[in-house]
Amino acid sequence: MPDYDVIVVGAGAAALVAGVAARNEGARVLVLEKAPKELRSGNCRFAGATCRFWHRGLQEILEFLPDLTEEEAQSMIVPEFTADEWYNKIMEVTEERADPKLTETLVTESNATARWLKDQGVKFEVATNKMFSVREGDKLRWKPQHIVIRGKGGGLGFADAMFDIAGRKGVEVLYQTKVVKLLCDSRGAVRGVTVQDREGFRDIPSKAVILACGGFESNREWRARYLGTGWDLVRPRGTRFNTGDGLRMALEIGAQPAGHWSGCNATAIGYQLSRVPEGEDIGGLDHRSNDYNVGVEVNANGMRFLDEGADYTAFVYSKYGAPILEQPGAIAWQIFDAKVAHLMQEEYRGHGSTAVTANSIEELAEQLGMPALNKTIGEFNAAVREDVPLNYLVKDGRGTVGITPPKSNWARKIDEPPFLAYAVGCGITYTFGGLKINPRAQVLDREGEVIPGLYATGEIVGGVWHKNYTAGGGVMLGEVFGRIGGANAAGE
Ligand SMILES: Cc1cc2nc3c(=O)[nH]c(=O)nc-3n(C[C@H](O)[C@H](O)[C@H](O)COP(=O)(O)OP(=O)(O)OC[C@H]3O[C@@H](n4cnc5c(N)ncnc54)[C@H](O)[C@@H]3O)c2cc1C
Repeated sequence: MPDYDVIVVGAGAAALVAGVAARNEGARVLVLEKAPKELRSGNCRFAGATCRFWHRGLQEILEFLPDLTEEEAQSMIVPEFTADEWYNKIMEVTEERADPKLTETLVTESNATARWLKDQGVKFEVATNKMFSVREGDKLRWKPQHIVIRGKGGGLGFADAMFDIAGRKGVEVLYQTKVVKLLCDSRGAVRGVTVQDREGFRDIPSKAVILACGGFESNREWRARYLGTGWDLVRPRGTRFNTGDGLRMALEIGAQPAGHWSGCNATAIGYQLSRVPEGEDIGGLDHRSNDYNVGVEVNANGMRFLDEGADYTAFVYSKYGAPILEQPGAIAWQIFDAKVAHLMQEEYRGHGSTAVTANSIEELAEQLGMPALNKTIGEFNAAVREDVPLNYLVKDGRGTVGITPPKSNWARKIDEPPFLAYAVGCGITYTFGGLKINPRAQVLDREGEVIPGLYATGEIVGGVWHKNYTAGGGVMLGEVFGRIGGANAAGE
């Protein structure tokens, strides 16, 4: 008789939810984490922990925010976000490649999962980021990005709350304990793991194992192998411990790979931080540079190379890192003028990027050594459709005409000094390729059969995100399948 019913591999957001869900069903749960205690929580430690789930609008959102005053509550305008809207958006951004069954489970269960977290004792706060809402007189109106709340204290606060909850319920956690192998019985059912810690190697038996140990974004060799040329040089934004161990172990026993193995979530980050050697933390959100939709982005030759207004940041940011990598020197410059400076996020002021200021575009072009910038900005300004009113609350169609690439929405002339330029590079958030699971979070083998005793949740799951992602869906995916997988694993 093993000492544990359920072993959870990893101690990030997905793992902790799975551990608590299994414990709630009476299972004896052991969480095994490769990192030392002070670096626990995986990518969640670096995350905003914005929480995307379908909801019925402000009244329901307020149930998650009991500490708000009446006045604060009245200052929020939050439209409803339906399950259909999120499902359709996932299908749109993944170019219809998302697994329909897993996506339906993710979306449908997101509301109940957010409520479950609240019932377990997780606290939430308003996600006040300028990306998500627009000031309308004395009120804040939420944009159709539909991210309204996040875990209190961001990812770190959320993870610490989950560790407290798990600890109080009797979930055990071992740090600096790396899982290296899945143990199978003669039927091929997973019945424990082999770990490596400071004492060496040992086996820990269990009735079921839940893999929640992330993707391979911090494995330089796998990045080159699966993502392709140049990706070995890209800076991970989050934990250094996600090196694909769980994927390797599961593939070794015949698990089926799923999803977009050559794809990842990668975004613009401050250029200097994109050059910090791997292994040093660069502070998660402090380096985000995602305000291109109020400006333009050019490469080192002064040429634009993407549609800065294609959609809201939440629906493009994770695919707008890769195009920077493809530019000469893997660098780009984001250019803004004085009239949009107040719309930019605070991170720009202190994220270690190079900011260049000038009183004219000519001066800016000279400082950046980028003569073509004069022509690029001149053509851009001439192409802006000023006949269409500007409206950040919708995709306003105020685009450019006759230039390639276009800027499809929110285009404004760049003509008010001082002008600002920020250097950005590409940072990888996490990888999209993963394991095939069914909606019960059970891992399937290459023939499509369930591998008894093996479950997976979080970034290690493949099949939903392809090419792109909907912000706030990362943590939620781990939570939905963690909750389902934890409860099911407890029943093994
Ligand atoms: C900078 C940044 C910002 C983000 N912001 C958001 C956001 O605002 N909203 C959102 O929804 N998502 C966000 N994400 C994504 C989100 O953090 C993840 O999707 C979420 O944390 C789920 O991850 P996970 O639990 O699967 O993996 P992780 O949280 O990365 O946890 C995996 C854990 O497994 C451990 N591990 C790895 N290998 C082993 C092994 N062999 N043995 C034992 N343990 C092992 C790792 O040490 C790690 O602790 C962000 C990510 C980053 C990097």
